[in-house]
Amino acid sequence: MKTVAVFGSTGSIGVQTLNVLRRFPDEYKVVALSAGKNVGLLARQAAEFSPRYIASEVKADIEGVTAFTGADSAVRLAREAEADICVMAISGLAALAPLSEQIKRGSRIALANKEAIVCAGDLVLSEAAKRGAEIVPVDSEHSAVFQCLKGEDGRDVARIILTASGGPFYSSKEDLSLITPERAVKHPTWNMGAKISVDSATMVNKGLELIEARRLFGARDVTYVIHPESIIHSMVQFTDNSTAALMSYPNMELAIQYALTYPRRAVNDGVRPFDFTRPLTFFPPDEERFPAPAIARRCMEEGGTAPAVFSMADEVAVELFLKKLIRFTDITGIIEEALCINEIEKVESVEQLCSLSDSIKRHFGV
Ligand code: NDP
Repeated sequence: MKTVAVFGSTGSIGVQTLNVLRRFPDEYKVVALSAGKNVGLLARQAAEFSPRYIASEVKADIEGVTAFTGADSAVRLAREAEADICVMAISGLAALAPLSEQIKRGSRIALANKEAIVCAGDLVLSEAAKRGAEIVPVDSEHSAVFQCLKGEDGRDVARIILTASGGPFYSSKEDLSLITPERAVKHPTWNMGAKISVDSATMVNKGLELIEARRLFGARDVTYVIHPESIIHSMVQFTDNSTAALMSYPNMELAIQYALTYPRRAVNDGVRPFDFTRPLTFFPPDEERFPAPAIARRCMEEGGTAPAVFSMADEVAVELFLKKLIRFTDITGIIEEALCINEIEKVESVEQLCSLSDSIKRHFGV
């Protein structure tokens, strides 16, 4: 039986991870659950899965469990909890410190969080290589690329092509400055947490994913195409001009399950096989209306802390937008402003990145 620690267990990915684990009671044992503020749900999860450890930002009264409480609870849990597999589904930069601790243990990391890799890719991946911690992506695009690359030689890869649904407003002609948070969090094909839903609507998510793909797979040529149906999750083109694609109806549990069972697959009755009589459509990106991926590409070329500033400024901007303090179209403006005012440096440490994030938050009053 494999032991599993779920960080961000009360979020969209965390809840879906527990749905997957519930289907395999003889193969996986949940030993640790980490939440933020939703201690009601955490208590119900703990009652069902009987973990040894829990962590939450606010106090949770759960008997018979070692509990960590406070802003640093996830990192303290990560130092303590020994698990064969760590599912990292905390959103934002807050995942970086617990992720780094779990990597030091050499556990398999089923990685949903993208911000940590975007901000600190070299640090995280070199530590993972040193400690033998295998990183299996959960993000559907990167899971697809990971699966398309299985058994391939990296030298034969010409290009990675991510797909993007385009989010809820891609094909509409409406004035984007009038988009409300309530509308931005409703994604047409995926059911996700608030931050990533807004990121999908602004296409910042695709920008983060371009950087994430470059970091995870070491490919220089990473691009994207709009594919509104979200059936092809991403593609790899090889030097002989053949293309491998991974397809399924949109379902995050499939990618989560693969990260747990890899290199094997397991039955999943929750997803129908794809019906090939259904048409699939593809469109070129519109980077005038949705400039975020172009900004991300620039940051990727610049290197150093530029991708981190992109991600941290977006985190601040999404928070301000969700609180209705800025408009939808101001989000990329805040990213551009943060890139202008912050000198780009070499990434040296997690502490340096945390202090950069604090300074960006202070600048924008968060
Ligand atoms: P949610 O907002 O739904 O969940 C986030 C989780 O992280 C919650 O459990 C939350 O706790 C916890 N959390 C938030 N801040 C902190 C903190 N400071 N310390 C400890 N825990 C914290 O996000 P998603 O599940 O949608 O996404 C999680 C990550 O996975 C993101 O990085 C996202 O980009 C990535 N991802 C998500 C996909 C999806 O389909 N949802 C797809 C691909 C990637 P609480 O709710 O208790 O406050």
